Amino acid sequence: MTKHTSHEIDIVKSDTTKIDAVDFDNLIFGRTFTDHMFICDYENDEWQTPKIIPYQPMTMDPSARVFHYGQAVFEGMKAYKDDDGKVWLFRPEDNFNRINKSAARLAMPEFPKDYFMEGLTTLLKMDSAWVKPGKGNSLYIRPFIIATDPAISASPSSNYRFMIICAPAKAYYTGKIRVLIAEEYSRSANGGVGFAKAAGNYAAQFYPTSLAQKKGFQQVIWTDADTHERLEEAGTMNVFFRINDTLITAPLSDRILDGVTRRSIIQLAEDNGIEVQVRPITVTEIKEASKNGSLKEIFGAGTAVVISPISAFEHAEELFELPTIENSYADTLKDKMLNIQHNLDADKHGWRYKV
Ligand SMILES: *Cc1c(COP(=O)(O)O)cnc(C)c1O
Repeated sequence: MTKHTSHEIDIVKSDTTKIDAVDFDNLIFGRTFTDHMFICDYENDEWQTPKIIPYQPMTMDPSARVFHYGQAVFEGMKAYKDDDGKVWLFRPEDNFNRINKSAARLAMPEFPKDYFMEGLTTLLKMDSAWVKPGKGNSLYIRPFIIATDPAISASPSSNYRFMIICAPAKAYYTGKIRVLIAEEYSRSANGGVGFAKAAGNYAAQFYPTSLAQKKGFQQVIWTDADTHERLEEAGTMNVFFRINDTLITAPLSDRILDGVTRRSIIQLAEDNGIEVQVRPITVTEIKEASKNGSLKEIFGAGTAVVISPISAFEHAEELFELPTIENSYADTLKDKMLNIQHNLDADKHGWRYKV
């Protein structure tokens, strides 16, 4: 292993690469990781010198607070390679800002911006062979922060670990998904942590989502916890509804995750002359719109899939099928996003970030 220091990062390079053993055409999402990972520990009230080391398991005291109280936050972002071999990120500062918003809500220390950007770009340069060119190929990037104090008292930790791991990803066309609208369970509550990418938000969805899956639905669309009437978002995606030619999505609140894809889709739709309304939208409204034929599309939006079209939804044991339409907003907007992400189209909002 060769050891050297770049700026403020201590780097230990792997002698070997695992890349030759990877079948990039048959990747199972999130199971294969690149050769290196980024680590930075928070001790004595400050972030220590960050490191990049070979990807490997780590040891941790069984009493580490993350295991007991779920004091953990994460991000999800992607890197793309263009046809000239240049690697790009998409709005990475938004992910940086959001992980610190999540961290603050979970009583965790904020991570410094220069460490985040420098750590991320250094890691991506070292593992750039893992970012495959071609639309649909990407490298999924998972920054996260966990509470590491070895003490099981229910109070915030004084030690933390920030890490970044990366997994190559291929966008398979999974077909349209069918969703169940939540009537009993809730993802988040007023004053809660729904707006944060807090680990526990996802664990709490697994059980109700598995019940929906048993009924033949891939995902749940969550509604407000008080009335189950206002449509909010899906498990890891914000949701858009097209009624006639207007695109509607719920306004942000402390129950809703402020998605980078959501924000970008709203902008791209407006750029392309599509009317967008950010306002509360109810189950009653979409059921009526479906019955009178004005509900044209529903789609989810998030980094992992960009846009995931929805073909049907069920509410109160009543099933609603969506029409198949030509030149859907879902297809048009997804293509525009991918073209910007892969450096195939002009980037008039300055969203691309060269690694
Ligand atoms: C991550 C996430 C999204 C999508 O956010 P992007 O920044 O677009 O990836 C939407 N909803 C939830 C609950 C999420 O965790």
